[in-house]
Amino acid sequence: MPQSKRTPKTRRRETARRNALGIVLAGCPVHELRTKLRAAGMRPTPQRVALGWLLFGKGDRHLTAEMLLEEAQASRVPISLATIYNSLHQFTGVGLLREIAIDGSKTYFDTNVSDHHHFLIEESHALIDIPKVSVDLLQLPEPPYGKSIASVDVVVRLRNNA
Ligand SMILES: [Zn+2]
Repeated sequence: MPQSKRTPKTRRRETARRNALGIVLAGCPVHELRTKLRAAGMRPTPQRVALGWLLFGKGDRHLTAEMLLEEAQASRVPISLATIYNSLHQFTGVGLLREIAIDGSKTYFDTNVSDHHHFLIEESHALIDIPKVSVDLLQLPEPPYGKSIASVDVVVRLRNNA
């Protein structure tokens, strides 16, 4: 009977091994990503983990679906643009990404979901975060009766000096 061989000593060793594994996993980005997805109520499918790895593994970023597709292809993650769009909207839906629409045609996904504004460099279409404090001085209009301001998204467009 294998059960009778489990002396307290073996159990202690097993617990120690599990704890050691826990410590190793706590520092593992993939494990942290799975935990992040689960905490947001998303099942950590291999595809989501692969995309999350590309999205969240490099600090604060602003990406379009096309940019993410290029990165996925470069990392040999087999995925279609349609699936990337779906996943980006799912990530946005659970609050892991913030969607920023520019000119109604170009949509960026921001891995920094905190309240902040953006510079848009017109030549390269690159977005840069503006520290929150520097836009707090804006004189906001009084909202119409019965309405209140939910959020303010400022995009300051930059061009090269002539
Ligand atoms: Zn941003």
